[in-house]
Amino acid sequence: MPKNRRFRKGELFKKKRTPGGQYTYVRRKQRASKPKCMICKRPLLGTQQQGAKTQKRPERPYGGRLCLQCLEVAIERSIHLST
Ligand SMILES: [Zn+2]
Repeated sequence: MPKNRRFRKGELFKKKRTPGGQYTYVRRKQRASKPKCMICKRPLLGTQQQGAKTQKRPERPYGGRLCLQCLEVAIERSIHLST
C-alpha cells in the first residue's frame, strides 16, 4: 500500500489541537510570490502588497506587469509596427 504523502510535508499542514481535545491537520496559507516582469521574469520595483491600488504598482502603461527596460523595447516595437 502506498504511503500517505499528504501529511509528510510539514510545510503544507500543521498539527493543531481542537477545543474538544482532538488533533487535526490544518492547511497552511500559501504566501503569494513577489510580482515579476512578464518578459524577463525579473522582480518588479516599486510594487508592494499592501496599501491603496495606486501604491501597489507604478501608474504607467503596463505598470506592475513589465519592467522599465522591457517597456521601452515594447513601446519601440509597437511604434515600428504601426508605421
Ligand atoms: Zn522585464
